[in-house]
Amino acid sequence: MITVAKIWFDGLALLGDPRAVLESIGCGPDVAKIADAPVGERVDVWVTLDVTDERLSKLLALLQERGAKWRDIRSDRFAEEEIEAAPLLTMWFNFDDTVFGGPRMGTTYDMSEACKRCGAGARQTSAMIIDGQDLHNLEGRRAAATPYDDMLVDEKLAKVLAESGATGISFRGVFVAFAKRGHMQLPWRQLCAAHTMPPMSPRSTAIKPYNPCSCRRTGFETPWEIPVRVVYRASDLADIHDVNVTWEWFGDTHYEGDVSDALFASPWFLVTPKVRRIFLDAGVTDFSWRPIYVVDE
Ligand SMILES: [Zn+2]
Repeated sequence: MITVAKIWFDGLALLGDPRAVLESIGCGPDVAKIADAPVGERVDVWVTLDVTDERLSKLLALLQERGAKWRDIRSDRFAEEEIEAAPLLTMWFNFDDTVFGGPRMGTTYDMSEACKRCGAGARQTSAMIIDGQDLHNLEGRRAAATPYDDMLVDEKLAKVLAESGATGISFRGVFVAFAKRGHMQLPWRQLCAAHTMPPMSPRSTAIKPYNPCSCRRTGFETPWEIPVRVVYRASDLADIHDVNVTWEWFGDTHYEGDVSDALFASPWFLVTPKVRRIFLDAGVTDFSWRPIYVVDE
């Protein structure tokens, strides 16, 4: 595993040809991506370096010296063998063009055991309903997600998952809602997890209670400058299945007692390497998969 820093800044802040300035500190095109076209008055530059690479401190010193603003996004990268050997992997959809779905589209939820303040623990009771305006984002894909980590797979992939013997997995139908034409069922399924993990170890990083709800399941911030590391105690893994969700729910919430107006935070999916393999074999490349960390406590 290595940790990389992805540094974003405005190339114009370098006060010179960004390519030449970056090459002067050894950052060639292998690590520096410079946007071809300016965005307004800005030229986006991304430099990706291993955090142990001496060019990183040179670059940050240069940006500081030029008075530039930058964003420093850290993440862990794993070798294939490390991913294959992990007990569980976080499953994140990388694509920006998600499909909006959930309570505001008419999906129903049982709130009897959910937090009255934030809605964490809302239990979905209907098919997933998505917005007709986002339907094009499913075209040409075999898997996708809503902005709330509702995982969607096409029905052929759902069949492969169901027949794989993967445990803890179930499926719901997916419907699309059109403003004037009602609902239509899609040849897609929502992937659901039966098992909720225990709360994570406090040794997890970049998962910080920021504005925690009294239920403690929502209100986290995940700062960019620290790699997200999901840590569990070895004993937390006793009851895992191939598909699980976290006890913690991430993202903003809006819940004032009316489900049809709610926005719920959502748990992260944690799956075994076996599930990842099925997605990869189906040609799905829009998810990132990162091993969890396990500590003895
Ligand atoms: Zn709550």
